[in-house]
Amino acid sequence: ATARRDFTGRDPREVLHEVYGYDRFRADQADIVAQVIGGGDAVVLMPTGGGKSVTYQVPALVRPGTGLVVSPLIALMHDQVEALIANGVRAAFLNSTQGADERRATEQAYLAGELDLLYVAPERLNTASALSLLQRGKLSVIAIDEAHCVSQWGHDFRPDYLALGDLAERFPGVPRMALTATATPATAREIVERLQLPDARRFVASFDRPNIQYRIEPKVDQRRQLVSFIRSVQQTEGADASSAPAGIVYALSRKSVEQTADYLRGQGIDALPYHAGLPTDVRATNQSRFLRDDGVVMVATIAFGMGIDKPDVRFVAHIDLPKSVEGYYQETGRAGRDGEPSVVWMAYGLGDVVQQRRMIDQSPGDRTYKMRLGQHLDAMLALCETVACRRQNLLDYFGEASEPCGNCDTCLQPPETWDGLVAAQKLLSTIVRLQRERGQAFGAGHLIDILRGAKTERITQQGHDKLATYGIGADLSDQDWRSVVRQLLARQILVAQGDYGTLALSEASGGVLRGEAPVPLRRDVLGRSGASGGSRV
Ligand code: ADP
Ligand code: ZN
Repeated sequence: ATARRDFTGRDPREVLHEVYGYDRFRADQADIVAQVIGGGDAVVLMPTGGGKSVTYQVPALVRPGTGLVVSPLIALMHDQVEALIANGVRAAFLNSTQGADERRATEQAYLAGELDLLYVAPERLNTASALSLLQRGKLSVIAIDEAHCVSQWGHDFRPDYLALGDLAERFPGVPRMALTATATPATAREIVERLQLPDARRFVASFDRPNIQYRIEPKVDQRRQLVSFIRSVQQTEGADASSAPAGIVYALSRKSVEQTADYLRGQGIDALPYHAGLPTDVRATNQSRFLRDDGVVMVATIAFGMGIDKPDVRFVAHIDLPKSVEGYYQETGRAGRDGEPSVVWMAYGLGDVVQQRRMIDQSPGDRTYKMRLGQHLDAMLALCETVACRRQNLLDYFGEASEPCGNCDTCLQPPETWDGLVAAQKLLSTIVRLQRERGQAFGAGHLIDILRGAKTERITQQGHDKLATYGIGADLSDQDWRSVVRQLLARQILVAQGDYGTLALSEASGGVLRGEAPVPLRRDVLGRSGASGGSRV
């Protein structure tokens, strides 16, 4: 180890050049590196492929001591450490897959000050022995990767992350960084609070991935739609088989992964399955074929792809509705990391929604927790049902304002709409009446029951069948109404309040009630009888 180069105190740009061979820092990288080398904390929100790694690796090399990297992705640690060692960096990891000898060697190297970077899984870091080991050596920086996992209400909560806030007291004076490629403004606030980073400088890169084209369509014949999507990508990439585009197809269940892979192979597409239930050697072989060979289509559960560094993935397809916009953004973000044009496509159906609502109902957790899951699902459906630009909707979800992109399906081919003004007025005036006449507020389900003239116990008990708006919305199905509500929520014509998501008016509601603002709603949404192509699931 002594033969390795020492970068302590060196100019960060020279380190970047010597270790990675890059000429210059990208966008915010130089500022982040300077902040941390100067001893300050940083919260880094940067999309996948943005270049987060060098922002903690360079400070770890330049500052005296070892950079601690907390990462939940044990499967990737090995590869990351190998790549660093190949670049002349003294890196190692501590995780549960290791033998005792290997672990001891790493611990000794750390205590001897012979490590530039040490990767640790969060569950390991929460053990007394690991903490005492770290305290006996010298840390240069603490980088917490995938920091959104600390968000209890986020899409990817990991309990082990909660204890990471204690690192602030245990290692005073060691600059800390939280990094993530997926954070809504609320999640970002939670990261700052829970990881104790009140004084951290925030670096927020644009979450836009302009080279990715977004497409979403209702399911009609899922397999046929998938094959024709893959063929369309193959055609734009050129008919030359040697340059066939690589892609990932995400499915929710293992069974569906295997069946879809079989089906695609039957169609002459070089598809392989990947899910946690396959034998380790099969998974390894399939993954290395995907990484090395041209044009392999990996059909996988979301277990696949975390940190897979394949820059030229030309498409990502979802044949099942993701559970959250964050998940969708993260999974689609695996396309086009090289910056070349790429397409992401999704087919969603009523069956997805029914299945996910059932999973939410049956999930362990209190009512607030289930509400949150329901909100994640609704945000996902709002993205599916938007008449506006998909990218705008997506970026807006992450708190970023933008213009229509010209590179998504709704921009390229504006969807058919119907005039939802009257429906919206019926709903809004029901909310107004309940509020004014009785001081009551309700969630979507009960409001829809009132509009459709349902005879539920709650309606009779509350006397809501006496309301002037009772039954005035019987022309639309329950599914139609749910879609109307989602679309109005997505456009902030309605707002959902409190833990129970009761619906209330917004600033934009007045214009709709007065009939001043048009309310075009998407026709090809779930459950609409007139939907083009239909959506029988
Ligand atoms: P993230 O962790 O944000 O997804 P990575 O750190 O893996 O991103 O970087 C994404 C890609 O960009 C990698 O292939 C990396 O080598 C490359 N990269 C990062 N920073 C630079 C830079 N300053 N110059 C050139 N390439 C860079
Ligand atoms: Zn667009």
